[in-house]
Amino acid sequence: MQKKYLIGNWKMYKTVQEAIIFMQQLLPQLQAIDTRPLALSIAPSFVHLSTIAALIDDYKSIQLVAQNCHHETEGAFTGEVSAAMLAAIGVGGVLIGHSERRSYQKEDNLLLAKKIKRVLEVGMQPLLCCGESLEARRSGRHKAMVQQQLLESLVGLTPKEIEQLGIAYEPVWAIGTGQVASLEVIIEMHTLIREILSDQCEGAKVPILYGGSCNAQNVKAIFDAPNVAGGLIGSASLKVDQFMKIVIALLGKDGTGHR
Ligand code: PEP
Repeated sequence: MQKKYLIGNWKMYKTVQEAIIFMQQLLPQLQAIDTRPLALSIAPSFVHLSTIAALIDDYKSIQLVAQNCHHETEGAFTGEVSAAMLAAIGVGGVLIGHSERRSYQKEDNLLLAKKIKRVLEVGMQPLLCCGESLEARRSGRHKAMVQQQLLESLVGLTPKEIEQLGIAYEPVWAIGTGQVASLEVIIEMHTLIREILSDQCEGAKVPILYGGSCNAQNVKAIFDAPNVAGGLIGSASLKVDQFMKIVIALLGKDGTGHR
């Protein structure tokens, strides 16, 4: 069975001390259950990656994901972090084009295509985020918007390269709002994304994740939906007990599926 992705996106939260305490509390709880059905990752701030890498060194079933990287390999780009720097400290994947970066840093699809290339070049998995705004959904342009995001961000990639990606469908109106997308919407959009990918490569190989107000109550039904390979968890990944409730909702108390 394919492992389900479960990625905690910490955004710009937690000092390094808070991050250490979180991991010190989380790891023993994960070790007590069988987490093999999950591909678990934490996406902390850049400055915590090395510290957390050292903490999870003995615990191979949790991976590190970065929240961003620069689109050039190296150079005079003060304040930036390259894909190679991330790969060198054991990061396995990079979020590309999270809606907060599209909105606040004005990242566009063509820039994201370059970032994806850099991430692939150093052997990490790009996790390309896409998703429509509330305005696009209200005006019925949601499918066109997601299609454009995907096609423009995949420009210049070979089918084999596209098969290395993960896609996260995260409707902007569902992120951090408590307004989770309905199963109907999730299934419809994931099916669309699968179709778009299948025109570009062997689409079935690309995991499609959902993100937007997932919590312990709704996560199991979402992750079990067709074409959903797991999800990105923002707010509900910030507290150990809430994050563990999500893990237990997916796996059961002992990892066997029994609750
Ligand atoms: C996210 O930011 O990727 C996310 C899914 O956030 P939240 O779970 O808080 O909606």
